[in-house]
Amino acid sequence: MRGTAAECASGALTFSDYGVFVFEPQQPSDKDVVISCAVHGDETAPIEIVRDMLHGILNGDIQPCQRTLFLLANPAAIRIGKRFVDENMNRLFSGAHANGQTPEHQRAAAMEHAVSDFFAAAPAGERKRYHYDLHTAIRDSQYEKFAVYPFTHSGPYKKEQLTFLAECGVETILLNQAPTTTFSYYSARTHNADAFTVELGKVRPFGENDRSKFAAAEQMFTRLVSDAELQLPKFDANRTKVFDVCRTINRTVEDFTLHFPDDVANFTEFKHGELLATDGDKEYLVEQTSERIIFPNAKVALGQRALLTVVEIPVEQLKLV
Ligand SMILES: [Zn+2]
Repeated sequence: MRGTAAECASGALTFSDYGVFVFEPQQPSDKDVVISCAVHGDETAPIEIVRDMLHGILNGDIQPCQRTLFLLANPAAIRIGKRFVDENMNRLFSGAHANGQTPEHQRAAAMEHAVSDFFAAAPAGERKRYHYDLHTAIRDSQYEKFAVYPFTHSGPYKKEQLTFLAECGVETILLNQAPTTTFSYYSARTHNADAFTVELGKVRPFGENDRSKFAAAEQMFTRLVSDAELQLPKFDANRTKVFDVCRTINRTVEDFTLHFPDDVANFTEFKHGELLATDGDKEYLVEQTSERIIFPNAKVALGQRALLTVVEIPVEQLKLV
């Protein structure tokens, strides 16, 4: 592999490309773990978590025994302190990067290559693949930490992963019911990894994150890469709230309005019949009791998602393994 390698206590950390760090343990391992951050450049807490894990590995405080790939996905956006330079990078995976020439299109392709190369370079044998793509959200959330479980194509949901996420403090899960062009769906679909978009809290500038709020997640990611056998508590269905997507509301015309204040938190519940959005002449009313809104953004490009609505479903309803 090209790049510079640093010898660490339990293996070698290689800087193979800008923002691409591969840890190869000395001893045989059975897990390949991808931890990515900064797909959105202004989401600083995940960058601080990855930075501190890398420092910990370099100074010996963290001694991984599993293969690990760390990715700083969008350095150009980090530099300008913005979500993105030209395009939302988390809409450019699974081949969507081929439809444009912006730096984000090119970087999404490079990130896919980094993940492919990392998984392909693993030693032979039965291995488990993981990818946690770390984010913080633009707005407040009624459930501060939540993870998006990518579309499984009718495959089962994993108790082990729900338990791991709960141990990270992530006790709310949003199910995606269709293919997407997010980084986590790419790794799940293309590489059969257990992959998640993990929202760890609200966006703040560098240095203003309350790191104690992320301590459980940091500790679990460290254990995931450092423990030969990760011991997790028994699955408890009562720990996790699960939400299913009810509707996707796209902005199709310039004249698009969301009919609630800008500071409404993710997962806020609306009443049946309330007006959520107008897209030109088309009105979107709340259709179900307990319908909640998530990821509202009236300023998205035409044709993109401006709002999702979700409803809670019982965990027991999921096909679990
Ligand atoms: Zn994000």
